[in-house]
Amino acid sequence: MTPGVTIWRCAKCRAGFFPERLLCPRCHGDRFETDRVHEAVVEEVSVIRHMLGQENWQPRRIASVRTSDGQLMTVGLVDEADVGAAIELFQDEAAPFGRAKRSPSVS
Ligand SMILES: [Zn+2]
Repeated sequence: MTPGVTIWRCAKCRAGFFPERLLCPRCHGDRFETDRVHEAVVEEVSVIRHMLGQENWQPRRIASVRTSDGQLMTVGLVDEADVGAAIELFQDEAAPFGRAKRSPSVS
């Protein structure tokens, strides 16, 4: 599990994109550098209750989220984070996931 999710940043104008683009829609640059975003806000949540051909499917929650850098992406939710929640992003293999940000624990 890797913290953050990979985005691609235009080498020329620094605009960040997800997924990767061939050309920057802003400046038409064609060189990109990878970067990582770590935070997002949940905009929409859907539950996948069935998957064709899959038995024993457990309902999964996926969310459309807006990253702190402005990209819109779809991530799997691993907890009960809901619309408006600030989440932290991480990647498992290549798949992006999110979970509610832990408030710093006071001990
Ligand atoms: Zn650009």
